[in-house]
Amino acid sequence: MSRPNFSRSNSLIRGSGHSLHGTKRSRDSIFRKRRSGGSFKAEEAVFDLILLRNVTEDAVIKNLKTLFFSDVIYSYIGNVVIAVNPFKELPIYDATYVEKYRGRSAFDPKLQPHIFALADNVFNDMKYRGRDQVVIISGESGAGKTESSKKIMQYVAAVSGSTDKVNAVKNKLLNTNPVLEAFGNAKTTRNDNSSRFGKYMDIQFDFHGEPAGGVITTYLLEKARVVRQGEGERNFHIFYQLLASDKAKQLGLTGGASSYRYLNQGGAEKVKGMSDSKWFKDVVKGFDYIGFTKDEQDAVFKAVAAIILLGEIKLTSKDQGAAFQECSDALLSLLGVTRDQLESAVTHNTVIVNKQQVASDLNVDQSQDAIDTLAKAMYDRVFKWVYTRINKSIAADKSAIKAVIGVLDIYGFEIFQHNSFEQFCINYCNEKLQQLFIELTLKTEQDEYLAEGIDWTPVKYFNNKIICDLIEEKPRGIVALLDEESIRPGDKSDTIWLEKLSSTFKSHDHFKGCDGTNETPLDHSRIHETAHPKCIHVHMQGFLDKNTDTLFKDLARVMFQSGNFVLKECFPEGDESTWLGASKRPPTAGKAFVQSMKEMIELLNTKIPSYVRCIKPNHLKAAKKIDEDLVRHQVKYLGLTENVRVRRAGFCFREDKDAFFFRYKLLSPKTYPTWNGSVEDGIAAVFEALAIPPSAYQMGKTKVFIKNPPTVFALEEERDV
Ligand code: ATP
Ligand code: MG
Repeated sequence: MSRPNFSRSNSLIRGSGHSLHGTKRSRDSIFRKRRSGGSFKAEEAVFDLILLRNVTEDAVIKNLKTLFFSDVIYSYIGNVVIAVNPFKELPIYDATYVEKYRGRSAFDPKLQPHIFALADNVFNDMKYRGRDQVVIISGESGAGKTESSKKIMQYVAAVSGSTDKVNAVKNKLLNTNPVLEAFGNAKTTRNDNSSRFGKYMDIQFDFHGEPAGGVITTYLLEKARVVRQGEGERNFHIFYQLLASDKAKQLGLTGGASSYRYLNQGGAEKVKGMSDSKWFKDVVKGFDYIGFTKDEQDAVFKAVAAIILLGEIKLTSKDQGAAFQECSDALLSLLGVTRDQLESAVTHNTVIVNKQQVASDLNVDQSQDAIDTLAKAMYDRVFKWVYTRINKSIAADKSAIKAVIGVLDIYGFEIFQHNSFEQFCINYCNEKLQQLFIELTLKTEQDEYLAEGIDWTPVKYFNNKIICDLIEEKPRGIVALLDEESIRPGDKSDTIWLEKLSSTFKSHDHFKGCDGTNETPLDHSRIHETAHPKCIHVHMQGFLDKNTDTLFKDLARVMFQSGNFVLKECFPEGDESTWLGASKRPPTAGKAFVQSMKEMIELLNTKIPSYVRCIKPNHLKAAKKIDEDLVRHQVKYLGLTENVRVRRAGFCFREDKDAFFFRYKLLSPKTYPTWNGSVEDGIAAVFEALAIPPSAYQMGKTKVFIKNPPTVFALEEERDV
């Protein structure tokens, strides 16, 4: 395989064994000068923002805009790809484009920027150097993260082998997309196909660099949507797809989507340009490819149908409690339980007192809540069951895996009028990713200059560590306090917790507790998130319940009794025989989320990262339209301008002094064949011999730093002569 334009710098890098960051930087910067090529003049727009004449926010935005209106949606900051959502199909992803970018791995300056260039770079580094990769895709809802992740998968599938065995693996991997999106995506006001869960997928490669399998990890599905949708929004796609299929009638679903309470609240049962019935066929095809048996598929679809019908149960009051007024036979048959079993489960709450089961009646409202809780729990667990089952089918044997390419497609910052526990978690996740970005691209770089004593004017950026600490610190972060309150015996309420928060963080710069004023009403607090110029209101009411997230024993039991084997497997704690044994309290939702984020960051830290920063050009989902304020907002919080400044002010190449001198001492008659002076003087003599001025490099404490790529080329060329 040829790797034009890159071989020289690569051989230099390989021989020298210098740092990852140095390696990446040198690659990017090598092409700085040349990237303004293509059909654009430098003064009009540049392909790599590092080449901007003046690095200002305005210049960054103007450049993105100029490219965008010429249908160039991608640009670079070094090896970071910026993608502006075109909201229209562009003819830039077919086989000819794959060929165009294939093997041109170092962001070839003669080609327009493309996500395929990044995918190629990542694929080659995995294949030829055996290094684990991860592509971190960020951006707000509707910015194009999921589409970007699919383009990367598409590219990797296109350039890797095509034996029957490899093709079967690829088919499985690609077919996970329609399935997972059907179950985890929904129409929201921001995006008709919004991912309502976070997804990390490892594509595993064998020792020939061919796809061998994959593993999917998901994060926090927005299960509240199962029972409640806002204006203009839908429940998860699969509900509507099932209704639009031939299966619906067989499962006892006789009405249209608009007739079901769990599906019609947003008043948007149809999505323009989306065929639910066609997608359903793709889901079934996907299940088949992945290896789900027909029994498994049936059980999953029955569970989905049962959730729809749970929403149709009508209750009435009876004595102190509640009873069914209406409950369809179809529902009972889908669940495989009797009417008495289901009725008793949703109208009672059983607790264990002194090793005895004690049941109390729930009233109509409480029973309604129990039904909603059951619907949410069923969906959440069926979703988990589906992706766990997918993993069983697609994961390769560990001994067969040489390296992986991970793709992280996770929800972006969400700031609504009404922000609750879900937004708190999602935004915390984004703060963590921003923190990682800062660590990897801004801080590490500048810290090294500082440690090496290099002359350097620090680039200012907002370090959001303070916000991460506010949320996750032990023992006094928001989540720790929430936990303390959730598990404390005795009376508890959101109000008591809110008061604790207010007094603990009363002088914190990024938190404002409730003070009963209009600005911060009693049930709100404000957290200053990176993505928001001021503070966002977080509606803290209901946090305790959502954090504890307990499922009444009666609900778990009836699911465990279910004749639907998938549901039964999903609720193991419903097995009564385990109730009296010592039970460990399951981790709270907040704690579990913080832990999952910690694991995610640790995982990302073990791989070579590449970034795709997606930008949403307007809220109208319209082509050829840029809302400048919206773009400015994203450029700000994604830290793009600072990213350009740090990259630009940096050094393209760094090397341990001894290794550097060893490699190049032959270039000066003073230092070759023998040299008795210091290594610094020796290096200076080498540069002098090539007429390289002192301004082109700096000597750090342990390393030598070279500013621009031509200097590196000159050294290597001279060595080759
Ligand atoms: P969310 O956080 O809500 O899941 P997202 O960032 O994943 O949002 P996508 O679903 O990838 O956003 O993109 C939203 C829509 O934008 C897509 O359904 C598609 O219509 C359009 N889109 C995104 N990227 C592209 C692209 N490269 N080419 C054409 N259309 C695109
Ligand atoms: Mg998405």
